[in-house]
Amino acid sequence: MYYFDPHIHMVSRTTDDYETLAKMGCVGMSEPAFWAGFDRGSVESFRDYFRQLTEFEPSRAAQYGIQHYTWLCINAKEAENVELSREVIKMIPEFLDKPNVLGIGEIGLNKNTKNESTIFLEHMELAIQYNQQILIHTPHLEDKYQGTRMILDMLTGDSRIDTTRVLVDHVEEHTAKEVLDRGFWAGMTLYPVTKCTPQRAADIIELCGAERLLVNSAGDWGPSKPTAVPDLILELRRRGHSEALIRKVVYDNPIEFFSQSQNFSFTPPQ
Ligand SMILES: [Zn+2]
Repeated sequence: MYYFDPHIHMVSRTTDDYETLAKMGCVGMSEPAFWAGFDRGSVESFRDYFRQLTEFEPSRAAQYGIQHYTWLCINAKEAENVELSREVIKMIPEFLDKPNVLGIGEIGLNKNTKNESTIFLEHMELAIQYNQQILIHTPHLEDKYQGTRMILDMLTGDSRIDTTRVLVDHVEEHTAKEVLDRGFWAGMTLYPVTKCTPQRAADIIELCGAERLLVNSAGDWGPSKPTAVPDLILELRRRGHSEALIRKVVYDNPIEFFSQSQNFSFTPPQ
C-alpha cells in the first residue's frame, strides 16, 4: 500500500532510510522544522537549515520516488530567546515561495511558558499574513493535556484562523477527541517504545473514527522508527480493518489536508 508520512525529520536520517521507506510504499512526506538537539546560535544558522529543507532534502527524496514537502519555523524549545525567534520569523517569508513549502510548523508549546506563547502567537500572525497552513507540535508527557488546551484556545481565539487548515500533532487518547471536536485535523505520532505505539494508535482510530486523522513516525534524531507507519498498517490489518479505512488514514487524509496549501502539487505514482 502506498502511504504518506506527514511528519518525519529526514535531515536526521540516512539515504538508506529513504530507500527503505520507498520500498515499504512511502511516496510522499512532509518535514516540519525542528530543534537541532542544541540551540542554534544565529538567524544565519536557520537560513542554512531552511535551505537544507527546501533544496537538498527534496532532491535526496526524489531519487527514491518520494515527494518531499516541508514546514518552517523556530522551535518552541528556542522561544526563550525571543530576539532570535523574531529574527527567524522575519526571515521565513524568503522561503515561503519555495515549491515544497506547505506552511508554518511545527510550532507549539514545550514547557507552556509565557515566552513560548508569545512566539507562538507571532508565528500564527505570520501564517495569517501569508495565508499559510499551520502544523502544531503539542507538548509531550505531563505537559500535553494543559499545553494542548492552551494551544487550541490561542488558535480558536483568533477568528482569522481556519481550523480546517491546521494539523495538531502528537495527539494521544486524552487529547485526540477535543482536537477533532474543535474542527482541527489531528496527527498521531508513533514511537516504538514510549508515547503512542501502533496498538494505541489503532485504538484511537477505533474510538474516534478516521475522519481528519493522520499518522506519522516523527523519525527524528532521537529514538524513533522511520518505518512506524507500516507498523500501524500491519496492526490495522491484523484487527480486520478494511483496506479503504487504512488507506484513508495513511494516504487519502494527508493528501486532502495538504491540498489546501498553495504549493502542494502531489503526483500520485502511476
Ligand atoms: Zn517533529
